[in-house]
Amino acid sequence: MLRELIQGLPGGGRDHPPISESTPTPSIAILGTGFGGLGMAIRLRQAGITTFTIYEKADGVGGTWRDNTYPGAECDVPSHLYSLSFAPKHDWSRHYPEQPEILAYLEDCVERWDLGPHLRLGTEIAAARFDDVADQWVLETTAGEEHVADILVCGLGQLNRPFVPEISGLAEFGGTVFHSARWDHGHDLDGDDVAVIGNGASAVQFVPRIAPVAEHLTIFQRSANWVMPKQNPPFSERTKALFARLPGLDRGYRASIYWRFEARFLMFRRASRFARVVEKAGKAYREKEVADPVLREQLTPDYPIGCKRILAVSDYYATLVRDDVDVVSEPIERITPGGIVTADGQERPVDTIILATGFESTDFLAPVEIVGRDGLKLDEVWHDGAEAYLGITVSGFPNLFMLYGPNTNLGHNSIVFMLERQISYVLQCVQEMVAGGHTSLNVRQSVMDSYNRAVQRRMHQTVWEAGCSSWYKNAAGKVTNNWPTFTVEYWLATRHPWFGAFEDR
Ligand code: NAP
Repeated sequence: MLRELIQGLPGGGRDHPPISESTPTPSIAILGTGFGGLGMAIRLRQAGITTFTIYEKADGVGGTWRDNTYPGAECDVPSHLYSLSFAPKHDWSRHYPEQPEILAYLEDCVERWDLGPHLRLGTEIAAARFDDVADQWVLETTAGEEHVADILVCGLGQLNRPFVPEISGLAEFGGTVFHSARWDHGHDLDGDDVAVIGNGASAVQFVPRIAPVAEHLTIFQRSANWVMPKQNPPFSERTKALFARLPGLDRGYRASIYWRFEARFLMFRRASRFARVVEKAGKAYREKEVADPVLREQLTPDYPIGCKRILAVSDYYATLVRDDVDVVSEPIERITPGGIVTADGQERPVDTIILATGFESTDFLAPVEIVGRDGLKLDEVWHDGAEAYLGITVSGFPNLFMLYGPNTNLGHNSIVFMLERQISYVLQCVQEMVAGGHTSLNVRQSVMDSYNRAVQRRMHQTVWEAGCSSWYKNAAGKVTNNWPTFTVEYWLATRHPWFGAFEDR
């Protein structure tokens, strides 16, 4: 345990004895090929379980890192922590990984663990129904094929379906429109008047890249965000060689990042004094970068830091002060065939609109239709907001496991760490099923309910319930996405499954 705390914890898992080749293992369907789906597959393989199939609707692996190819896409969690501890990469080019390198890493994982034969690319699962008699999931693809699996692991992520706002006239716009998560690389922005709607984590990364290309750039900002600077120097060849030669050093470095980031949770507590200090630093940074008092006022958030995701970027403010870039905070009223009209009646002509409007984040597992025991529909169970036990299992849906499910998102640390906890938990459940000859694991309703009451009680002590809108909440304002405390607590809660949480098997 001490070793795990010092080294293994930031991503490490329990070492399970591999299952012998002669032991029959359940068939496992994994949906998605992002960090979650591929990580699950690797751990299964490492544990000697090869009876799995990975379904992916796209033609390639990578999940969000395959979809988000906008200029400047990179991760704001350092490379060595934003990668799987059981699939280490020692030669990351930079401190923060860029999208092409993350995608290449995930593709390389497929090669290293020979996952190719398990992959069904271009296969979208439209529905999954639990067969109560056979204790199996019956999957239906959009092409109408059926596949059967004993266990279903959903690694669909929280940010996989772009959100397109309903703005009057958008469909009639005469120019080019695309979403940041579906970047139109065939469209040259050179000489265009470009409008960007939204100013979240995606927008602040590509705006500095496209401003020098476009004729003019207008950012339509609904609410200002907290922005902090982030430098991204390359690793020297010597450092990379050192990490490769001394993997323990790499693990220690990873752990040091984990603990540094973990401490940041203090900022996300309601009325946190630490947050006030960071707000001061954010204000000072804004004042240093933005001399114009009108623009500076526009860029000043009206909510406590952390309520929405804090943006880490060093060239966004510098781009906004360019003469050929405007920030418009007047609400958008409608879109005409040639431009955007704001509430003050002004129409700004534009050639291209880029929607940096985020994702449908609170409809977990959508659009897969999931039907559990006795015809129970998951979207009906989740009518008032998604809930799960440990973000992994839902009562009434036996043998269904989620990776990055409800209340497992973070504002302060690496999602890959959370995924590894979930992957380890699911693996141990599978091993328990094999060892005990169980065909069904269904979490008790009472356990799930009391767990979620505790999660929401803890949530009241966080900044996410402060008065701001964010993708962490559903329409009713319930925080369905975030984990409400330190990730160490999640690690402790998921370290070994408590099988008393499940109905008699
Ligand atoms: P987002 O943070 O949800 O931002 C969406 C933006 O669109 C917000 O500025 C929002 O305004 C605006 N918006 C939405 N609907 C609108 C409407 N009808 N009219 C005008 N504006 C509208 O989405 P995102 O930037 O794609 O980022 C989503 C998440 O992806 C991030 O929080 C992060 O977790 C992840 N991400 C991570 C990285 C990274 O570095 N690791 C990079 C990119 C993305 P309001 O703020 O007023 O709602």
